[in-house]
Amino acid sequence: FSNYNRRTEFPMETLTFEQDTISKKIDSLLNIMTLEEKVGQMNQYNGFWEVTGPPPENGSAEEKYQDLRNGLVGSMLTVRGVKQVRAVQEIVVNETRLGIPLIIGFDVIHGYKTLSPIPLAEAASWDLEAIRKSSEVAAAEAAASGINWTFAPMVDISRDPRWGRVMEGAGEDPYLGSKIAAARVKGFQGEDLSNPLTIAATAKHFAGYGFAEGGREYNKADIGTVTLHNVVLPPFKAAEEAGVKTFMNGFNVLNGVPVTGSEHLLRDILKQDWGFEGFVISDYASIEEMTMHGYTENRKMAAKKAVEAGVDMDMEAYAYVNELVSLVKEGKLDEALIDDAVRRILRVKFELGLFDDPYKYLDEEREKEVVGNPAHHEAVLDMAKKSIVLLKNENNLLPLKKQGQKIAVIGALANDKNSPLGSWRIASDDNTAVSVLEGMQKYEGNELVFEKGADLVNGRVTFINELNFNTTDKSGFDAAVEAARDADVVVMVAGEHGFQSGEGRSRTNLDLPGVQQELLEKVYEANKNLVLVLNNGRPLAIDWAAENVPAIVEAWHLGTETGNAVAQVLYGDYNPSGKLPMSFPRSVGQVPVYYNHQNTGRPDEAADDMVFWSHYTDEENTPLYPFGYGLSYTSFEYSNLELDKKEASVNGEINVSVEVTNTGKYDGKEVVQLYIRDLYASVIRPVKELKGFELVEIPVGATKTVQFTLTPKELGFYNANGEYVVEPGDFKVFVGGSSNEGLQGSFRLTK
Ligand code: BGC
Repeated sequence: FSNYNRRTEFPMETLTFEQDTISKKIDSLLNIMTLEEKVGQMNQYNGFWEVTGPPPENGSAEEKYQDLRNGLVGSMLTVRGVKQVRAVQEIVVNETRLGIPLIIGFDVIHGYKTLSPIPLAEAASWDLEAIRKSSEVAAAEAAASGINWTFAPMVDISRDPRWGRVMEGAGEDPYLGSKIAAARVKGFQGEDLSNPLTIAATAKHFAGYGFAEGGREYNKADIGTVTLHNVVLPPFKAAEEAGVKTFMNGFNVLNGVPVTGSEHLLRDILKQDWGFEGFVISDYASIEEMTMHGYTENRKMAAKKAVEAGVDMDMEAYAYVNELVSLVKEGKLDEALIDDAVRRILRVKFELGLFDDPYKYLDEEREKEVVGNPAHHEAVLDMAKKSIVLLKNENNLLPLKKQGQKIAVIGALANDKNSPLGSWRIASDDNTAVSVLEGMQKYEGNELVFEKGADLVNGRVTFINELNFNTTDKSGFDAAVEAARDADVVVMVAGEHGFQSGEGRSRTNLDLPGVQQELLEKVYEANKNLVLVLNNGRPLAIDWAAENVPAIVEAWHLGTETGNAVAQVLYGDYNPSGKLPMSFPRSVGQVPVYYNHQNTGRPDEAADDMVFWSHYTDEENTPLYPFGYGLSYTSFEYSNLELDKKEASVNGEINVSVEVTNTGKYDGKEVVQLYIRDLYASVIRPVKELKGFELVEIPVGATKTVQFTLTPKELGFYNANGEYVVEPGDFKVFVGGSSNEGLQGSFRLTK
């Protein structure tokens, strides 16, 4: 009942049904709160001064400090560590009239101190249990450090690797993205939010941020109804259904309206249609940014729009705390909207148990024991191995022999202990990753020679500063080439620095930055037994490497245990099973290139001699490596695809089964993928859509039968009015180990 509904405007006091206890407590609290105190709950500030030190004497820090003491702050972000959190919590508990505890937010994106792979890499595992576990570990460390709430998972679907934030998401596909969104929410929040080792999660950035035009950060997105409902919204809905406690709006304008001010998204879809009972937080100062966009004439109007749209808490725009009281007093804003927002925020605080004990997350002993616990290293190592994707392996160059080899390890990234930690890791210490070189050194039977060849980046490398990739110094090339020539095998680590993706890191090139491509070609000339280990936070256009280099291992930014994971894969102690969650383009001009595209009205293959088919004259239509693609050291054969019926009603089900045999020499795991195609429909359906997958372990020589059930949930789609429909008609089904291959069957749906 806490859903305030502006459209129907029913008088809430007429509701008579039984209220739960938390609702009753919220009501009594709300009754005694002043308007100022209510507005305070809707205000979130960034951590500012050394909070355990003396109060600041001037500037915005002093203002924030005073607001804290005056009960005008409901939440803080980026304060961390039991000592710091206790310091701010004590201020509100002891000094404000009502002592309502703060909820402490933090960007726990892929681990807290012990780091998991970046989220895009984790998505490549297609292993929902491992992903859930990885979020659980992150939550435990953060919670033990005093944090109540993470601004994750980012569930934005994106088809554009130029956008730097693809590293934070689960890739291009709404089905995989939805499953992963739910797994992450469950991992962070656990079964019971009051457990002191869990934290509230946030589904962000609602909505459309991943469709930034041109891949340029913060750019507007134009997304039609069909794509919005079928591609962009499903992972958000999945997070909501998994019980996510908060949503964050995006920075972007969607179809002409800043999403921070979008009543359609936040009230109509999220709070009304989906029945979301948690609260919505703005993105950082995004309320104020509505003025910059040209949507509101000033901050006051921006605050009004945001509240009306359904943004319950203001992150660091100073808009709510400064403008809402007068807006209400002047009769320009309905106080019932404020009440609704406060109810939602208080509810999450109650569920976290903060009212029972505001210091319950603040236990120094627990902090010491949990943050960086050795068991967490095991978990992130496991996740890291599962995230690796084998892209190419000609002549079985991999796995490497463990004895008697001279191996040249080339590339600045091979010896880097910082970059593999990836972007978005504000609580972990720098240079704490196991480098690839260190990981390989643990295999002592071979002789390793390291040469960096060239630097990847000049000068200072941090999360918030612009990076300089204009490296031109090739003075280390000769030594690298010499080492390569002298070796049996070369392992070259190349790609992007960990801070080259993430927020504010859009690119127009998707190549190997700096002089790495040139180095790669020189090294290859010297020794063709070359394994390329890629480090990157987004798909890269590595057409030359794909054509020439015999073995390519996609190792993303794998977090704390990077080097150990990579070495175990290179040496065959772990058989890779990752599959790409996002297509790799052949060239940047193909972007967006994604597997679930629609057909044009023209053939997509050359017919006779005519140019009038849908294509580029200088590039193929297909991506370099498609969604769902990834190799193993063993091989799998698919056979006996069976459907239990040829026809079902639109309310019925179709059972699909397939046999998968391990025909190679290693035990292995395979992600068995099921795609459908709805051949004709009232809105055009994609040429393929993922509708099921299963990760199966198959020993050498063994066969496993994998079953899928297609129900109306998989068989329908959102039509041009945004309504979910299952339409009669003909379907194809494909089952295989990638989006571009597989056995085919067909069935029909009838009325
Ligand atoms: C990002 C959010 C993040 C917030 C708080 C913003 O710049 O877009 O994803 O949660 O900062 O750090």
